[in-house]
Amino acid sequence: MRLLIPRALAAVAFLATAAPLSAQSDSRLDDLKDEVLVMVQEDAKMVQEIVDMLFSFGELGMQEFETQRYLTGILEGAGFEIELGVAGMPSAWTARWSNGSGSPVIALGSDVDGIPQSSQKPGVGYREAILPLAPGHGEGHNSGQAVNIVAALNVKELMERENIAGTLLIWPGIAEEQLGSKAYFVRDGVFDGVDVNLFTHVSSNFDVSWGQGGGNALVSAMFRFEGETAHSAGSPWRGRSALDALMLMAQAWEYKREHLRPAERSHYVIVDGGDQPNVVPQTASIWFFFREVDYELTMESYDAAKRMAEGAALMTGTQLDTIMTIGSAWSRHFSKPVAEVTYANIQRVGLPEWSEADIALANGLQTELGQEPRGLPTEIDELSGPVDLSRSLGGGSDDIGDVSWNMPTVTLRFPANMPGGPGHNWANGIAMATPIAHKGSLAGAKVQALTLLDLFLDGESVDAAWDYFNNVQTAETTYTPFITADDEPAIWLNEDIMATWRERMRPYYYDPSRYDTYLEQLGIEYPTVRTRPVSDDDGAPAQGGR
Ligand SMILES: [Zn+2]
Repeated sequence: MRLLIPRALAAVAFLATAAPLSAQSDSRLDDLKDEVLVMVQEDAKMVQEIVDMLFSFGELGMQEFETQRYLTGILEGAGFEIELGVAGMPSAWTARWSNGSGSPVIALGSDVDGIPQSSQKPGVGYREAILPLAPGHGEGHNSGQAVNIVAALNVKELMERENIAGTLLIWPGIAEEQLGSKAYFVRDGVFDGVDVNLFTHVSSNFDVSWGQGGGNALVSAMFRFEGETAHSAGSPWRGRSALDALMLMAQAWEYKREHLRPAERSHYVIVDGGDQPNVVPQTASIWFFFREVDYELTMESYDAAKRMAEGAALMTGTQLDTIMTIGSAWSRHFSKPVAEVTYANIQRVGLPEWSEADIALANGLQTELGQEPRGLPTEIDELSGPVDLSRSLGGGSDDIGDVSWNMPTVTLRFPANMPGGPGHNWANGIAMATPIAHKGSLAGAKVQALTLLDLFLDGESVDAAWDYFNNVQTAETTYTPFITADDEPAIWLNEDIMATWRERMRPYYYDPSRYDTYLEQLGIEYPTVRTRPVSDDDGAPAQGGR
């Protein structure tokens, strides 16, 4: 919980170094906001380089090491204090810079991890991988750090010149696709003392919301069974199959599925199903995601699955060896005062001007996916308010939910992608190293810079955010983490996949010293879209996926 004293000190520091809080300071804030828009625009090249660089790394969750090295290098060079490996995650980091009293503390976060098998040539409106089956940025998490960093560096410059007190804390969402880091950041104190957390996420339009969001809470867990091997033909009666237990558990869950509420979402993959058919599997592991609208309902699913796993072990004479919590997320609740400030800044910045080439790429992809071509958005979404969870039909999850229940938080969604993709897919990577992503991220950086100046200077938004957090948001809801004090982050996630791919991907890393853009480096004409309709006997272009 936030102390009031530092805010008071901040006010004193502000009075000591600047004009009195008055109409005069309002006009000072306005002037600085005008100025920062020009400054961010001048950093368009930097936005493009960060977006393209992270795209080319294509790193999966918990293995974001090139991303860490590159981004912390930029921030260290700009005078930020870097901490590596925060919350026990080697690929995590924070970058902190303070001025004057250091208060208020505004954190800026965005995810950095990619999606398996989503390698895709940017600017090409159909399935064409850079490296087939390699990981890639099929979600667009390569863009959010450019938004935050370019905003922060410019605001820092103004804070130094104008003696504005405060702290900027930049952080990455590690392994967001596994909901794997943010609850640990909260538990281990990474955000202690933070006044407001400004999170940002790629979208195909500008958007910010407040109140209870419509997504689900989540807990993800691995169940490992242990039996006994035997020759599957010679003496099968001597074996006890861990795979049998796994399949019985999964089957039990399929029977339960009929009796779940509409908002519930659950899915699983078999991580270990044995080695070869003629050896009765001694070990087997299944990885489940359980999602429901809130903590209690999600835990009910998890507890039911634990009983099924015990039953499956009983039925097969095997042992339920381990239940390991791998990821978790509370459903999201965002700050009304901060969302309103952010939305006013979205309206001021507006959507980017899309070129004919940008629109042609979007139309090409939408046609490729069998949709009516509708190009790119030209109108900003409305500011959306709370969702009634009793009527929710469920949806995805983001572990920013855990952050949002511990301090005032919003997610700024910025227009760096095209509408039409299914999500977690090559199609969602196509725009992510093109002018669409560059312009959308630049626009996002402008909004983020304006919101930072409001929070540092308007003298009311930070207090209003805590008033809403303490007296509205958490008045009847208490945060209970899904993870325990003993749970450890799953830092081994994706180690094998990245060990297979990293050296093969390295030759494709973006080299800004030789190429203006990543599109230029890959020799891609922008945009590349199909020039004739797809038919069943269509052989070209290569790898056309439908
Ligand atoms: Zn995401």
